[in-house]
Amino acid sequence: MSSLRTDDDTWDIASSVGATAVMVAASRAAEPEAAAVFEHMGNYQAVRTHFFDEYFTRAAAAGIRQVVILASGLDSRAYRLDWPAGTVVYEIDQPKVLEYKAATLAEHGVSPVADRREVPIDLRFDWPKALRDKGFDPQAPTAWLAEGLLMYLPADAQDRLFEHVTALSAAGSRLAVETAASQPVDRREEMRARFERIAAQFGLEKALDVAQLMYDDPDRADVADWLGRHGWQTESLSAPDEMRRLDRFVAAAVTTDTDDPDSEAQAFSQFVTAERQP
Ligand code: SAM
Repeated sequence: MSSLRTDDDTWDIASSVGATAVMVAASRAAEPEAAAVFEHMGNYQAVRTHFFDEYFTRAAAAGIRQVVILASGLDSRAYRLDWPAGTVVYEIDQPKVLEYKAATLAEHGVSPVADRREVPIDLRFDWPKALRDKGFDPQAPTAWLAEGLLMYLPADAQDRLFEHVTALSAAGSRLAVETAASQPVDRREEMRARFERIAAQFGLEKALDVAQLMYDDPDRADVADWLGRHGWQTESLSAPDEMRRLDRFVAAAVTTDTDDPDSEAQAFSQFVTAERQP
């Protein structure tokens, strides 16, 4: 028998076997909150993926055959969307990220549907040259995507990215962007504490504090506004509105201040789409 126990031991709610009553009650209490948060996060990914899939489908239907996925990561659209013949999909990301994806999918016998071309370079370097070297044609209309990227770039790098995209975009080119959400420091701290609490309740290891990798830059340009001033016609859709439209918004998971309409708008991304004007 454990040295912590004797045959006639007793306990209160904070010690020995009594403490286990608190542990299971705490897990029970946290379960609905955790379930809501996980469901909401999954729903956000699904809604975002659906939105940008549709964007590419419409661009292809409009005749665009040149696609650039900025910071493509493990994006598998070159493999899974129904691209018309002749479509070239350029994927830009760090060399090892691209290598991993292509090797893993090849190992599983999966081949791209489009002519997929890797552009292994950091987006803070001279990626337009690297893109051209792979055959990119700036005279042809392009469908660009920046999904899950802007939050990892400082404000000036975001501006430079869109300057390059604009310079490389023939009239009729399209661009789709997931904007970086911005939250006040106290709200971010509340979210971080909440995730830590949930992770602890479920015995999850704290693998990576993603927020530490992001630039929450108060000077970051508003994407639609910036593009509007640089020759693009834009449309913005708030991610929560799109989630509600698809019945995927889990209100119980959201901690924004419901009395402050700006709170939700700031805490969530926008999906911005744009078309380059002649
Ligand atoms: N766009 C993909 C998606 O939505 O599935 C990947 C998103 S993932 C959250 C962020 C990606 O951005 C990673 O693949 C990372 O390598 C890439 N990334 C971030 N900063 C980058 C940079 N400066 N240059 C190239 N890639 C970058």
